[in-house]
Amino acid sequence: MNKTNYYFDVVVVGGGVAGTAAAITAARKGLRTVLVDSAQSVGGLATNGYVTGIAGVVEGLCKEWLKRLEAEGDAIDRPHLPTIDPDKGKLMLERMLVETGCRILYGVTAIKAIVEEGVIKGVVCHGKAGEFTIWAKIVIDGTGDGDVAAYAGAPYEVGSPHFAGLNMSTTLAFRMANVDLMKYGQANQDWREKNAGATSFGLLAELEAEAVKNGDLPFVIFPTALIYQIPNTEATDADITVMTAHSFYTRNLDPEDLTRQIIEQHNQILLLEKFFQKYVPGFERARLTGIANMHGIRDSRRILGEYILKDTDVASGTKFADGIARFPEFFDTHHPTSPRIGFMRHIHVTAPLEGAVCREAQCSDDMHIFGRPAGLEARVDPRNHCEIPYRTLVPLNVDNLLVVGRCISSEFNAQAAVRIIAPSMSTGQAAGTAAAICLEKGITPREVDGKLVRQKMIADGVPLDQELTGHWAKVKAFEGDFVVLAGDFIGIKQADGKIVTAM
Ligand SMILES: Cc1cc2nc3c(=O)[nH]c(=O)nc-3n(C[C@H](O)[C@H](O)[C@H](O)COP(=O)(O)OP(=O)(O)OC[C@H]3O[C@@H](n4cnc5c(N)ncnc54)[C@H](O)[C@@H]3O)c2cc1C
Repeated sequence: MNKTNYYFDVVVVGGGVAGTAAAITAARKGLRTVLVDSAQSVGGLATNGYVTGIAGVVEGLCKEWLKRLEAEGDAIDRPHLPTIDPDKGKLMLERMLVETGCRILYGVTAIKAIVEEGVIKGVVCHGKAGEFTIWAKIVIDGTGDGDVAAYAGAPYEVGSPHFAGLNMSTTLAFRMANVDLMKYGQANQDWREKNAGATSFGLLAELEAEAVKNGDLPFVIFPTALIYQIPNTEATDADITVMTAHSFYTRNLDPEDLTRQIIEQHNQILLLEKFFQKYVPGFERARLTGIANMHGIRDSRRILGEYILKDTDVASGTKFADGIARFPEFFDTHHPTSPRIGFMRHIHVTAPLEGAVCREAQCSDDMHIFGRPAGLEARVDPRNHCEIPYRTLVPLNVDNLLVVGRCISSEFNAQAAVRIIAPSMSTGQAAGTAAAICLEKGITPREVDGKLVRQKMIADGVPLDQELTGHWAKVKAFEGDFVVLAGDFIGIKQADGKIVTAM
């Protein structure tokens, strides 16, 4: 018999890293919780999207996930950008959910919200048997796209105000096997030594240009590649995930445009396999072994909440009394229109901004094709970090809703910085914590004091009140002059001439 109704304390819609962290936390705190996802496994982009390198400060549930994977040989827990096996990663998250008693419904998509006087009474879902409703006291939107919040009438923004509302470029990741990463690493190092001081992208961009000249590529697809080794494989014969296919001028809520992007990137992946084999040292024996079954969307809706995390907050490293996550990274804004430039890792400010790295505007003509904003260029100082306040998880207009992950309340460039995996998971943990406070006190997420959420997370072992350690403490000690590198990326030139970055 098919069920047409479910009753829970908490429904989490979307089991990416953020939604899964929310569901685990809520269930561990004794709330009757259900997690629904339209896919057939959890982890979202981090697992099904092959984004296997974890950026940001890894703490709380993210650390637990990583440690448990590492104990089974399925993660490389290094000081920065630890990597996971995507399949083992999703199975571990699922195990963590099941252990808590959280119910999971796979293959179920939320399609509507039943709202009465600003309260979501139920989330209407669609599954194999048709429509059914999940009635819950608290709703957590972990869809990445803010679907439920939008259905319920929460206000939102989409895209860059400086790029006519276009989203960041998108990337469908793929997997390759039989890659000699040692040889590839050596070739990159040799290139850097031969081209000392060059601010261009590097070996891959040069090889792509050569392939274009020889007619083996129609154009430079993207001038660099993010490559992560799959744990448990040999560096000289590695399995890897690759993020280099790209679509530009994207509108990430339009099904026709999304389909255009996917088909475009399918074609690119076939070209890239041949390109890597023929041109790139270490890839001679490489072969394509998989294409991610989740398209790499970096941004779509940003749900407007009680606080909108500003681009300038990120640039200047603002700390908040209700800070529930932290991220000492950079504006990882993938350029909306230019494959040549690739990234736009600065914002414009009208006056020098304390805590940020500022300089007179020097942007190239194709950096801001819809018009250059006035003022100075400002970048994140890699030695500084920003916090995410609890209020960014609390949407306007709807009373029993929290949003988590990449759709939280933020400006365009701020979202590009906070969307990474570790802080996304922390927003989930914060939402699960807040849901428990709501039910205990009989209040709404808006009435919850974010400082209490922070305190409870600290009591649960998230060291939000402590100095950053490890990699980030090392970066903090860097001294020297700032330089802008390829990819609009910031580095620090030390006394010995060596340029260091937060990466
Ligand atoms: C190409 C690419 C490279 C990146 N590189 C890095 C990196 O190197 N390091 C890093 O830390 N971060 C990186 N990121 C960012 C990071 O991977 C994501 O921002 C983060 O994983 C988002 O997590 P999330 O839980 O918010 O959302 P998602 O991972 O998008 O998960 C959303 C989940 O909700 C489900 N869902 C959606 N709509 C519905 C619905 N209506 N009903 C039911 N279920 C629904 C989806 O199936 C999915 O499981 C990258 C992102 C991309 C796209």
